[in-house]
Formats: sequence, structure tokens, C-alpha cells
Amino acid sequence: MNKKKINIFHVFVDIIKISPIKFFSQYFFSVLDAIFLGLTTYQMQKVFDSVIGINNKNLKNIIVELIYLTVFIIISEVSSGISEYFGEYYHDMTLKTLLKNLNLKIAKISPNFFNNSENRDFVNSAIVGAKSVRRVLNVIMDLLFLYLPYYLFIEIYLVSLNPILGISMLFIFFPVLFSQIIKKSYYEKLEENHAPLRRKKNIYSSYIKNKNYLKETRTLNAINYIFKLFNKTSNEYHNLRLIYQKKVNKIDSISKLMTIIGYIGVLGLTIYLIMKNEITIGTFAAVYISLSNLFGLMEEIFEYRLGDSIAVYGKVKKYINFLNLIENSKKNKRLKNIVEEIKSIELKNVSFTYPTGKEAIKNINLKIKKGDRIAVIGKNGAGKTTLSKLILGLYKPTSGEICYNEVPSSLLSLKSIRNKGTAVFQKFNRYKITLKENIAISNIKNKNEEDKIEDILNSVGINSLDKKFIKGLNTVLSKEFEGTELSGGQWQKVAIARGIFKNYDIIVLDEPTAALDPISENELYEKFEEISKNKIAIIITHRLASIKYCNKIIIMDNKKIVDVGEHSELLKNSVYYKKLWYSQSELYEKCDRI
Ligand code: ADP
Repeated sequence: MNKKKINIFHVFVDIIKISPIKFFSQYFFSVLDAIFLGLTTYQMQKVFDSVIGINNKNLKNIIVELIYLTVFIIISEVSSGISEYFGEYYHDMTLKTLLKNLNLKIAKISPNFFNNSENRDFVNSAIVGAKSVRRVLNVIMDLLFLYLPYYLFIEIYLVSLNPILGISMLFIFFPVLFSQIIKKSYYEKLEENHAPLRRKKNIYSSYIKNKNYLKETRTLNAINYIFKLFNKTSNEYHNLRLIYQKKVNKIDSISKLMTIIGYIGVLGLTIYLIMKNEITIGTFAAVYISLSNLFGLMEEIFEYRLGDSIAVYGKVKKYINFLNLIENSKKNKRLKNIVEEIKSIELKNVSFTYPTGKEAIKNINLKIKKGDRIAVIGKNGAGKTTLSKLILGLYKPTSGEICYNEVPSSLLSLKSIRNKGTAVFQKFNRYKITLKENIAISNIKNKNEEDKIEDILNSVGINSLDKKFIKGLNTVLSKEFEGTELSGGQWQKVAIARGIFKNYDIIVLDEPTAALDPISENELYEKFEEISKNKIAIIITHRLASIKYCNKIIIMDNKKIVDVGEHSELLKNSVYYKKLWYSQSELYEKCDRI
């Protein structure tokens, strides 16, 4: 069955469901606040009238009216305080729930989605949107349960004095409403144009601020250049804001002018009614006070709160679109989970294009079986990493099919395929968590298997008893958190250990030895035999020393597999392989001579 599209009301209902009692209590007290604020205005008229006609007889009367006025003011203030208290409490709870929903959805998206910078902007805006939903809901609820009841109260009061007064009031509000609608579309457009610039700004700023980039940026003496790029983007960002701000200011000025004309009209009319003896001075004073109250409230709601909500509404929409996007990508198909061991993989005419439009793999056919140890070699950009990611189920082929145990992947859930594989990519993560967690994160339910973690660490050449690991396995891998810093090679070993700790049928090692010294590199190759035993193993490498452990070599060039075979076959048939082999074997020979 097709899942219903999520809209803003579903999100609001989710928020209300967190604690309906607390939610409605907030707005019950808002209504109370509005009613008593309105009654205060009405009561003021009575106080003024009784003061104007003062004599000994009605002194008691004035005191009674004043007591009523005080009680109304106190009730309104207390209600406003209680309503705010519930609001504050609810704010944190809402944020937690919405961000949790967002994270759950992010976890379900295909990793390929994040290959597109527009999509990454989309996710960032959705996160800001999730944080803003509560503000928008608050404004809507306050409009309905605080401002509207107060406005209606005053409107009815004015109509009861003179219908023309009531109608003039409407003229005060319409320009403001229209201007907000126009501003909303401006802010949406601004957000569309701002998102890519913001991403650029953040990237440049990370080159300067982020520790990992900073060292290289400094060594290259490139800081000034990066600063220039950052400033240029920053200026573009601010100029764009200025352009829209000018447009918004124009609209604001027009609407303010009309509002002021409306106010002058209402006041002029009341003065005229006094002169005609149709209303008392007390009524005039009450109308005057209520108008200034309304003006203050209007400024608060329309200028700041509604304006702010409209400014963030573009992002809220992104949040909702994001939740719906996942629903669409499921295509309403029941996918089978692959539970048995993967014994064979077959790629049939597989092609893959990144969301940027870059085609990385073209018409690849390949058969792999359990026990295969495959070396993939080829020039940079040939498509080796993309091919391995397709095999691991991280990406879906754009055309063609990959079969696991002869079942096409289109019938399988990608998640269940991903669960069967493990990988150590060139760009692995350096998590600032404990050594133990850094390993166990690939199979977190087995986090307490400390003996196994120690064994794996030892086998890649890391000893948790070393004095640099002050708290052994529980040492955080960052000095920021009273832990330790690792070298590039040690990090690579941690990444390898993490990859091995997962239960897997397929293992991919993508240039796994780039940061290792030659001795560690050799040790890893020897280990490779053990970790790939009875599995499907793929090693992407330029180092031919690793190839002697493989039973199949694949050569890739320009998106395609151009040769497959064993070492001796390829030495005869492949020009590329021959070149690579002799360039490296010369090195080995030189080393032997030394
Ligand atoms: P190799 O591993 O052989 O160096 P890759 O598989 O990493 O090659 O890349 C193949 C092609 O796909 C390259 O032209 C590369 O620029 C492009 N590519 C790789 N990753 C992405 C990405 N995330 N988005 C867009 N294009 C990409």
C-alpha cells in the first residue's frame, strides 16, 4: 500500500502527540491571557468614565472598577507566564523528536544520494527546517489562540461602539497580511540561492579552521588564497541577502504607510464621535489604549515572529520534502532480505552514473564466487572504487543488474546486501571515540567482545597495552578528550581492524596500505590471506606486491574492465599490466641489489 504523503499537519500532529496535555495547557492559558487582555481594555473604559464623572458618591464605584481592572491584569499576566513555561518545556522535547525522525530517515537513504552537492544542501536545509518547525507551529498557535481572540475581542468592542470603527480596523491589518505573503516568496527564493553559497563558505572555512586541512594549507602557503575565496563567497552571500533585504524593506514601507493611515483614520473617527457625543471620553481613552496595545502586538507577531517563521518556512518545507523523498524512493516494492551466505556475485551489463551526471562504470560483466581474491588495478578515475561500491550494495546500478546468489539485486533490499559486506576505503573515518568503539562500531552489538577486538588489533599491529593507550581499549583517540593522537599509519590500521571486526561475506580493501610503512604493508598482505579465506575479497591497489595473494586480476580503464586474468596471462596479454609490473619489479630488483 502506498504510504500517505507527509504534510506540515502530520508534523504538527507528531509534535502535539509528544504530550497533548502540556501542549493544550500552553494554549489554554494563551486564550485566557487574550480574554483578560481584552477585558482589561473594556474595564479601562469603565474606570475612565467613572473617574471623569467623579463625586463622593461614586468614589466606591471607582475603587471597585479599579479592583476589577487589577484582577484582570493579574490574571492576564499570570496566564501569559504559565503559557510561556509550558512553551519552553515543549521546545526541547519537540527538537529531540523532529531530529530523531530526521536521523531515522537519513539512515534509510541510499549513500549515493549524498554524492550530489545539491542533495547535501537539501539535507542541511532540512536539518535547519527541523529545528524551525516548532517556531512556525508556535506562531500559528499563538495567532489562533492569543492574537486572534484578542483581535476579535477588540473588533467586537469597536463594532459595538460604531460599525465604521470596526471596518477601519480591518484596513489596518490587510496590508500587513499581504506584505507577509509577498515576503514569504522572497525568503523562499533567497534560501534557494543561499544554500550553495553557504556550503561553499563552510568548505572554505574548514580549509582554514579544520585541523586536518590546516596543516596542508599552511605548508602550501595557500592560506591567503583560500581566504580570498572565502571572502569572495562571503561577499556574494551577503550581497544576495542585501538584494532581497532591499525588496523586503520596500514592501514593509508600503504596508507600514497604509497601516499608519488606517490608525489615523480610526483615531480621527473616534474624535469625531466624541464631538458628536456618540462616545464618551472614557471610550476614546480605551480605544486609544487598545489600539496602542494592538500596535505593539502586531509588531511582535507580524514583524518579528511571523517574519521569522516565513523566513524559515522554506527550510521547514525542505524538512517535509525530505521525509517524503524517502517514501518515494522505496518505490512501494517488497524487497527480500538476503539472509544466506553470499556465494556468488554476477554483474550483468552494469553501468553507473553519479547524480552529478558523471558516468563512472559502463557495461561491466563480471562473475565472482566465494573464495575469489580479486585485485583491481587501473589508472586513477578508471572506476575501481565505484565498482567496489556497487558490489557492496552502496550504490544501485543505473542500468544492468547485479545478482547475489543468482538473485537480482532489484529484488533484494540494499541494506541486507550492505550488511553482508565490509570495506576499508581510502577516506576512512577518524572517530574521536574510544579505541574499542572505533573497532566495534562496525558491529556494535558485539561491542563487549574485548578479546576478539584485542586479537584483531594485535593482528594489524596495534597493541592496546602500549603506554600511549592510557586507558587501554577505553582510550579516546583524540587529545581533545584526554586521550591520544594516532599517526596516519596507526589510523589506517584501526580502520582495517574496524573493517575486519564486522561479520562479512564480501571484503573490499581500497588502497589499504597507502599510509603504512613497508613492514606493516607486508604484514597486512600476509594477513589478507587469512581475512579473505572463504570470502569474496576485492583489493584495489597499485602495489603489485599484493597481487601474489590474488587468484584473479582485473584491469580497468575508462569505466570498463579491459582485461581479466592471472599474473602470467596478463604479463603476456596486457600492455598496461606489463608496464606496471616492470616499473615496480625494477624497483624490487634495485632494492635486492642494495
Ligand atoms: P578510481 O577508484 O579508479 O580512481 P572512481 O571510481 O573513484 O575511480 O571514480 C570514477 C569516476 O567517477 C571519476 O571520474 C570520478 O571523478 C567520478 N566520481 C567518483 N566519485 C564521485 C562522486 N561522488 N560524484 C561524482 N563523480 C564521482
